[in-house]
Amino acid sequence: MAKFKFYTSFLIIFIIVVGCGQNPFTGKSTLALVPNSQILPMSFQQYNQVLEESKVIKEGEHAQMIQRVGLKIANASERWLMENGYPNYTDDYKWEFNLIEDDQVNAWAMPGGKIAFYTGILPIAKTEAGVAAIMGHEVAHALANHGQQRMSAAQLQQVAGAVGMMAIGDDQQSQQIFATAYGIGSQVGIMLPFSRKHETEADKIGINLMAIAGYDPDEAAELWKRMKENSGGGGPPQFLSTHPANDERIKNLQNWSSDAKKEAAKYGVTSFQ
Ligand SMILES: [Zn+2]
Repeated sequence: MAKFKFYTSFLIIFIIVVGCGQNPFTGKSTLALVPNSQILPMSFQQYNQVLEESKVIKEGEHAQMIQRVGLKIANASERWLMENGYPNYTDDYKWEFNLIEDDQVNAWAMPGGKIAFYTGILPIAKTEAGVAAIMGHEVAHALANHGQQRMSAAQLQQVAGAVGMMAIGDDQQSQQIFATAYGIGSQVGIMLPFSRKHETEADKIGINLMAIAGYDPDEAAELWKRMKENSGGGGPPQFLSTHPANDERIKNLQNWSSDAKKEAAKYGVTSFQ
């Protein structure tokens, strides 16, 4: 038994050592236990499953707006990556932005650039810049590999629990871990919360992306004020339960807005919608 424990600890350390990489958006070493080649096919499959089980709005003003904002934010992130020496970072991504007919106040991103907005969040987003603030935040989670890091933690837990010794490299097991980490499957689109640290990172990356994409970064704080106003009443909507709209978040975004405008100016963007 002691020997078994020793091997388990050794395996965990080994995974941590080989699994660390530099994340261009945070400048930090991040734990990437599961490589893109393994996680992205799972993500794409899960995303398609969600779309199949949902009513996707393909035409009309709102669906077009989600597409337009998504492409602009994705384009902004690719310009940023190119400029900062990571031209191939999103090579394996397959960007997709879908609007789902659902009254839930919700929006989320899966690894590899798979984004969904629910119609229920549109009244709070209110404007295209409001949509861009949410989109920037969600795309930032995907780019910073926050989901992947969360999944790694789930997988490490399994290893520590001595269940996962054989699970690594096992497709079915990995699928299950993915579903657990994302909380999807039977409850479509229900996401586990990110840590506060990841939320703050996504806010900071997101506000820069929206500015580079030509959307007024002042609108990010305005969006979260509306989120806060909507957080009362009959229980928190899905998005707000994982994204607390508190004063600290609003204040941070107000403080970061002028830096985001300066960042956008580096890309020749000086006027905002
Ligand atoms: Zn978030």
